[in-house]
This record gives sequence, C-alpha cells and structure tokens, in this order.
Amino acid sequence: MVKAEAVHKYFGHVQVLKGIDLEVRAGEVFCIVGPSGSGKSTFLRCINHLEQINAGRLYVDGTLVGYREKHGKLYELRDREVAAQRRDIGMVFQRFNLFPHMTARENVMEAPVQVKGTSKREARDRADQLLDRVGLGDKRDGYPAQLSGGQQQRVAIARALAMDPKLMLFDEPTSALDPELVGEVLDVMRDLAQDGMTMVVVTHEMGFAREVGDSLVFMDDGVVVESGSPRQVLSDPQHERTKSFLSKVL
Ligand code: ATP
Ligand code: MG
Repeated sequence: MVKAEAVHKYFGHVQVLKGIDLEVRAGEVFCIVGPSGSGKSTFLRCINHLEQINAGRLYVDGTLVGYREKHGKLYELRDREVAAQRRDIGMVFQRFNLFPHMTARENVMEAPVQVKGTSKREARDRADQLLDRVGLGDKRDGYPAQLSGGQQQRVAIARALAMDPKLMLFDEPTSALDPELVGEVLDVMRDLAQDGMTMVVVTHEMGFAREVGDSLVFMDDGVVVESGSPRQVLSDPQHERTKSFLSKVL
C-alpha cells in the first residue's frame, strides 16, 4: 500500500530523511517509533505529499506520490492531481485540528460535501454513522470547545474516515491527551485495525504497537535503524540506538 525507496528530504541544507526504504502492506498496522526530530512526522507528511521528497520514490497503492514518471524522468503533478491523490488518504494529527465553528457532525460532513460533492443528506447520515462508530453519537451537535481532547480526537478520526480513505496516517494521535483519555482513542484505532484498515501510526504507545501493530520500524536521525514485528523490535532490539531509545520509553 505504501512503498518507500531511498526517500530523501531536505529542509534547506538540512537533510531530514536520509534514504528511507520500507513497505506497508495492505491491511496492516505499521508503527513508526523514534526520538524527537528523527523525521517521523516529515515522513508521514511525505506520504500525503504535504512535503515534497527530494530524491527516491514513494508510492501509495502502486501510484507515485506527487510525480509522474515519463521516460525515466519525474514531472511534478499539478495541484489538482495532488489533491486527488490526497483524497484517498486520511490523516490524524497530534492536535485535533477540528473546525472550531462547526459541530462534530458538521466537521465530519465537511469534506464529503465540499470535496466530493456528496449531498448534504447523505453526508449527514454517514457522519452520524461514523460518530456512532467512534462512540460519539450523543455528541454530534457539540462544538469542539465543548468536547474533551479524546472526544475531539475521535471526531477527527471520524472526519478522516468520512472520505473513505484507503490508508490512514496517524501522527502521535494520543500524545496531546491527558492519560485517562488515551485509551478511548486507542480503542477506536484498534477497532479500525480489526476492520482491516491500512494504518501507518507514529506513536509512543508501545503497548498499542505491540498489541495492534503488524510491523514496526525504529527511526533515528532520518534513517530506519531497525524493523520487524513489534514484538521482535521492542523485546529484542538488535541495535544500540534502538536499545538506548527503548530503555528510555519502556
Ligand atoms: P517529534 O517526535 O518531536 O514529533 P519527528 O520525528 O516527528 O519528531 P520531524 O518533525 O519530522 O521529527 O522533524 C525532523 C527534523 O526536521 C527536525 O530537525 C525538524 O526541526 C526539521 N523540520 C521539520 N519540519 C521542518 C520545516 N518545515 N522546515 C525546516 N525544518 C523542519
Ligand atoms: Mg513528529
């Protein structure tokens, strides 16, 4: 579903991704862990073409992200084509990014109506269904400011799902939450995983990674240091850098 081949990313002269190779299979939960500044968010943003890669190749569902390849040369896609690629990818950030002036239901309806041209009625029904699914059927008329962080994050997940994505990207979705609210968001993610959604999850929740993850990579300083099953990497890390990181977070 996602394939990265020698992905490089620079910000000015600073090299943030130094050749990332990895593959996320359809239906799997792929976890990315690593220290602050290692490039995890940048890599996620590249998958969605919120950042443009400088070298290498990145594919989603077999299609090159952000570029078209012709006779071995890459040509940048137009904004409209990028938007079309992005439509199939849901993203949930650390901060909830809901529209503050819209109710939970309106937040979930917004993209299908505006981007896909879904009728309001259909979008509303689907929004209610999704809010039920994330356990917020009774909060559909609440505004973000009236919801807890965990509830807002669940609305954000419902909002991403409303576009029927084939891939969901999560960037530390629980790290801004009070500890007692983390579980409700992880439960929704677990449920999504069981439903077969392909998910790339940047997380510090090692318990979640171990229990729900199918694959895990440890990133440090713009490279994948180690990869394997979560159990393997978390319980029996092979590299010093992985050991040292895990000894701090576990
Ligand atoms: P964290 O765990 O703190 O979220 P991360 O692994 O997600 O860290 P990134 O946010 O990807 O790390 O950042 C990797 C590096 O790239 C950092 O050194 C950061 O300062 C730099 N960086 C990120 N975005 C930009 C930008 N837009 N312009 C310049 N530098 C950037
Ligand atoms: Mg980050």
